[in-house]
Amino acid sequence: MSAPILRKLADLRAATAGWKRAGERIGVVPTMGALHDGHLSLVAAAKAACDRVVVTIFVNPKQFNSPEDLAKYPRTEEADAAKLAPYGVDAIYVPDPDQIYPEGFATTVSVSGLTDVMEGACRPGHFDGVATVVAKLFLQTAADRAYFGEKDYQQMMLVTRMARDLDIPITVIGCPTVREPSGLAMSSRNMRLSADGLERAGRLYPVMRQVAEKLAAGASFGDLAPAAREALGAAGFVDIEYFDLRAADSLRALDRPTEPARLLVAAWLDGVRLIDNIAVPQLND
Ligand code: AMP
Repeated sequence: MSAPILRKLADLRAATAGWKRAGERIGVVPTMGALHDGHLSLVAAAKAACDRVVVTIFVNPKQFNSPEDLAKYPRTEEADAAKLAPYGVDAIYVPDPDQIYPEGFATTVSVSGLTDVMEGACRPGHFDGVATVVAKLFLQTAADRAYFGEKDYQQMMLVTRMARDLDIPITVIGCPTVREPSGLAMSSRNMRLSADGLERAGRLYPVMRQVAEKLAAGASFGDLAPAAREALGAAGFVDIEYFDLRAADSLRALDRPTEPARLLVAAWLDGVRLIDNIAVPQLND
């Protein structure tokens, strides 16, 4: 059965108020639509642990760095609703823009520290846009749990910190990255790649895996990075914005995985910006 599509905050609040009164646990899955199996894995996780699930679809203008990128972002509401139908979610919240940013909206939520590097450094203003919209969606849905993908690792950390700092009573749950058979992380942006681009994008994951394996065997990141960057260049990746080994909790740069670590990358292929990250096994000392 397809879930009701709610476009007004008042309608969302009417639904969630009833659920809250009944003592039901609400899960929220924030998305920008163009849903794929990665998003649907979050929906499945939410359904498994919550009494009620709200999926939000909002292409948030404040988190885009250029008007062209915003304009090119896929919008597929009908197909999204059809993909959600088998999951039995309770509401799809597709807010009209003024339900998020009413006339005169003047507040920005900004998380410092975690946002100084990688996505924060490469995309000025992006994380303020994310933190602001996610804070609003947390408050608007009054959810108990929120489901985010590890695919956007730094974002997941940011929203966790934001909710904690602002005392928003919600638990952020991170879910593993869902990949294509090639290993390519599923992303709404993959739709913009040609068949050839998709094939070449599939080379990113094996390169990351190889680096992770060598790090686990004791090699230093400084020694491994040049060859890995070259392999990505050979696959057609240009403008590697970052290719970093970082501590999984603080995002401090590391040369060896002497603590829980992630390998994270952002690079352009055929005019599409792709990001990915994987866990790196910790060295036993
Ligand atoms: P987006 O619509 O791209 O803003 O993503 C909405 C949510 O889905 C975010 O929490 C993403 O991290 C998550 N997500 C996107 N791609 C994947 C994936 N391949 N696997 C798991 N989660 C994902």
